[in-house]
Amino acid sequence: MAQGDTILGGCGCGAVRYRAIDAGMRPYACHCIGCQTRQGASFALNQQVAAADLVVDGETISGTVLAASGARVTHHACPFCLTRLYTVNERRPDWPTIRAGTRDDSPEIVPAFHVWVRDKQPWIVLPQDVPTFETQPEEYAWAALARGEGPAAATR
Ligand SMILES: [Zn+2]
Ligand SMILES: [Zn+2]
Repeated sequence: MAQGDTILGGCGCGAVRYRAIDAGMRPYACHCIGCQTRQGASFALNQQVAAADLVVDGETISGTVLAASGARVTHHACPFCLTRLYTVNERRPDWPTIRAGTRDDSPEIVPAFHVWVRDKQPWIVLPQDVPTFETQPEEYAWAALARGEGPAAATR
């Protein structure tokens, strides 16, 4: 997957499908307790796309929660199988976050960095060459990390 490529994905039952353009924002893993709870999993695999490039085919249901960052985040899910597909953070509404595990090519995804590793489940061993953050980087550093540019990408 490279910048400009089309991202395809959808829910588990097929009622909701989406497509987006890869904006060069790489997938990352969030290990916060909220993500563990909301996914019913060990971490959330997130990827930001431009709102203008995200086309959702099918109705979704939504719910708004307070994220670990303090921002209000609205989750959109399939009303039938309840797969969470994407979220919209009130602080950056132009950059919705798809749950990258819903991408059709999900098995090929490698997270570019890891946030909230303070809350990481102990059995997960992270690769040494990938940036990790006890909580989360500042917004500007986050964007640079996701794009794979800037000095923040070289720090752990
Ligand atoms: Zn579904
Ligand atoms: Zn999280």
